[in-house]
Amino acid sequence: MSERELEISKNFKKIYAEIGSAKLIAVTKYSPLSDILISMELGHLDYGENRVDQLKERSVRLIEEGFLNARWHMIGHLQTNKVKELLFVPNLYAIHSVDSLRLIEEIKKRIDDYAGDRLNIFLQFNTSNEEEKSGFETYLELKEAAQMILSHKKLNLYGLMTMGSIRSDDQRKAAHECFSKLASLKEELMKDLNLINLNLSMGMSADYQIAIQHGANYIRLGSVLYKNH
Ligand SMILES: *Cc1c(COP(=O)(O)O)cnc(C)c1O
Repeated sequence: MSERELEISKNFKKIYAEIGSAKLIAVTKYSPLSDILISMELGHLDYGENRVDQLKERSVRLIEEGFLNARWHMIGHLQTNKVKELLFVPNLYAIHSVDSLRLIEEIKKRIDDYAGDRLNIFLQFNTSNEEEKSGFETYLELKEAAQMILSHKKLNLYGLMTMGSIRSDDQRKAAHECFSKLASLKEELMKDLNLINLNLSMGMSADYQIAIQHGANYIRLGSVLYKNH
């Protein structure tokens, strides 16, 4: 193994051990393709990008390199005019950043372009109330969004997503508040709509340990996996 392979392998092992049964999404937005190929060789299949063009390019590149079974997660803000392009991306597995009713309308309109069976949808909630963050802001709107997803057979209501606060005097305390808020919204929505299961996509490199304490089961990590020591 090369030094870089050893390094990445060590990082993944450490994180797998820490997060237990939660799923790890390796966020590759700052990483070169060579690093993604290394983690693919190690058997890691879930990857996240926050821009449609880069997600598409990388999905296609992996297939060209002979890796056919990656699962791609769109995690960044999605503009309605990019939906069509995104739905054509091979191996698209989930969208974590569905944040408006208008966006859901657009996804429904174009969903026949999606080659997979059913597309997994996470609804993003703005738990920190920071203006620059996307996401639904009220329970009522979140519920309406959930019902719109549930009424379409090619869409799978898969979970809720949030990001911890970025501006706060006490980052840890703010992260606890954001993640516990999303966990209670999940409980409320499941009860209200009689759902059997919903996932929680929360936690990044700076705050994933806190997210796990609040029941996160999809963790999106970039820097801690691909950092250079
Ligand atoms: C970049 C990004 C991450 C990963 O961030 P790190 O701090 O590198 O772990 C997770 N979620 C979203 C939405 C991101 O844009």
